Amino acid sequence: MNATEIHTFDELLVALKTYMTKNEIEIVTEAYYYAEKKHENQYRKTGEDYIIHPLNVAYILTSIFADCESITASILHDTLEDTDATKEEIIEKFGITVAKLVDGVTKINSISVSTENDYLIEYYKKIIVGISEDVRVIIIKLADRLHNMRTLYALPLEKQKANAKETLEILAPIAHRLGIYKIKSELEDLSLRYLKPDAYFDIVERLNTTKLERERVVEEMMDEVSKLLDANNIKHEIKGRAKSIYSIYKKLDKGRNFNDIYDILAIRILVEKEQECYWALGLIHSKYKPIPKRFKDFIAMPKTNLYQTLHTTVFGLDGYLFEIQIRTYDMNEIAENGIASHWAYKENKNAAVMMQNITEQKLQFFKSIIELNEEKLSSEEFVTSVKDEVLNNNIYVFTPKGDVIELSKGSTPIDFAYKVHSEVGDHMTGAIVNNNIVPLSYELNDSDIIKIITNKTSNGPSREWINIAKTTQAKSKIKAFFNRTNKEEYITKGKISLEKELRKNKLSITDFNSNENIKKVLDKMKLSDFEDLYFNIGNGKYSPITVINSLKNDTLSNTTKIEVIKPQYTSADNDIIVDNIGNIQTRIANCCSPVPGDDVIGYITKNSGISIHRKNCHHLSEEGERVVSVSWNDTIKNKYYSEIVIYVKDNNNVVLDAVQLATNNNISIDSVNTINKEDGIIYLLRVLTKNKEDLEKYMLALEKIKNISQVERILK
Ligand code: MN
Repeated sequence: MNATEIHTFDELLVALKTYMTKNEIEIVTEAYYYAEKKHENQYRKTGEDYIIHPLNVAYILTSIFADCESITASILHDTLEDTDATKEEIIEKFGITVAKLVDGVTKINSISVSTENDYLIEYYKKIIVGISEDVRVIIIKLADRLHNMRTLYALPLEKQKANAKETLEILAPIAHRLGIYKIKSELEDLSLRYLKPDAYFDIVERLNTTKLERERVVEEMMDEVSKLLDANNIKHEIKGRAKSIYSIYKKLDKGRNFNDIYDILAIRILVEKEQECYWALGLIHSKYKPIPKRFKDFIAMPKTNLYQTLHTTVFGLDGYLFEIQIRTYDMNEIAENGIASHWAYKENKNAAVMMQNITEQKLQFFKSIIELNEEKLSSEEFVTSVKDEVLNNNIYVFTPKGDVIELSKGSTPIDFAYKVHSEVGDHMTGAIVNNNIVPLSYELNDSDIIKIITNKTSNGPSREWINIAKTTQAKSKIKAFFNRTNKEEYITKGKISLEKELRKNKLSITDFNSNENIKKVLDKMKLSDFEDLYFNIGNGKYSPITVINSLKNDTLSNTTKIEVIKPQYTSADNDIIVDNIGNIQTRIANCCSPVPGDDVIGYITKNSGISIHRKNCHHLSEEGERVVSVSWNDTIKNKYYSEIVIYVKDNNNVVLDAVQLATNNNISIDSVNTINKEDGIIYLLRVLTKNKEDLEKYMLALEKIKNISQVERILK
């Protein structure tokens, strides 16, 4: 479309007649004369009568078949702000809905803040409010901006740049979000023209000089493909497709060569039925060699802005690369007009309602950001979240059922879970990505298939997740969980489970609570007080045994403290042979957790058979009448527990590696606990092994992992 092209009221009427009723056209006409009168003697910077602007905004909206209310409101959109028209008057003449639309557009335009960030926040908020009230407000706003961009030449240079920047950063991405490709693409090209005129005109120039050759090849290719489809009775339309200047600019900006880009010529095939898309694709692939990995099926897996099409790139005529898109007419409508395509369906009486419903999902995005902003985000954080999460850099991942979930780049399984549903996030205990167990901090990639493991009885998210999660939505949902949940409840729960664990380990609660101990625990866990400790146990961030171990670990060398810990036992069934004694109950002592292969001795307990310790266990002296000599059986039936500490540098997450190595080394992992320290992380692994050899192999393998500085087996 010509940027300086001005459309007249008669032209608007012609456009309206193609899809509106007589009654509706009368309403629009009335609005036009009303606005013309109100804007009388007002002029635009271009020198034209002011009414030319709203009139052309309306004309733009007819290209996406906007409904009568939207067209009417678009003609009136500047009357509230710039003339003596009042809302009451508009309600009276055109009804409450139109008045609300006009009011919504006016509100977005009136921002009076000084700093750039405050401005952006204000702007986003207004847009969000606009969308949540009626998405048509934003569609009118986009058309308004498009016309202003087409006439931007009339403004001073500085204003041109500022408007172009705002358009490129905020409005074009919103048009993309709503799927209105037509408007998005023109907004981008116009922004580039003012922001980077050199780059823009350079591309235009180069496109011009290559135009003839490109057109020749495209024509011939279209002809060939068309014949191929005709021969197979597939009714179709085929079009050459111009790449937008902005999309070429972005590719050049990424370091691509202009020749590489224009070598890829683009055509689009429209067919009637979805099935025919696949037939056409099959025919094309059988004639032209496709480039591997360039085929994308957005029909089976639509993008979240509703876009559906098959994409492929093939070696076409004369060795040129061709990008081919195949879609049905319906899909084409959505691809061009997105959310606004609902207007195009005549039978759809409630287009506005439909559009609002579809926007709901996207709204969630906006809403969570607003909530977070209300919490405590700095202005910069707020603006970054909006840009990162709502407007840019998205990846598309899948649920095990194949549903597409859109996330911002860098998202983790936590973000995925919360995006699916708060309930899923709140009860998640783990994640499987492409059939591998991954840590919750795992960075998701495009096309990953993600399964979230949940447990209905889990305590809810851990506070730590707030730092791991990438999206504001997940963060705010986790925060919401904690606000919702009574803190007291967690504190009580944590206290009870810690005391239970102390009793289980035969540790004195009073001893544990001694000032000296508590200080150590709090320091290690980086917690401020008792309550904090209980709370974090209660919410599942720390298991009680981790808390106890953190103390034990610290005092490993301190033999007097160690005495506090009484041995605990696990049954060893028939894996232990006790010398000179027949069938007798044996149990593995938890203090030193011997595994087959360790030198062991037995200790006759008062009433629970013989406990099996490692020979060098601190808890036993090798002498004494209750000590008996024991040995492992030749064949071992069970797996035995052992505990390993892993010291990791620089807070690197190595759990995934550790888990994978375990599987390779015949080791089962029972639990992993984490202790964060300033200079790294300590993982406490509780593992099950058949024998010492496997265990040692595993530990050696762990030591070879980059970032692991030390691996130790725990001997209490
Ligand atoms: Mn305007």
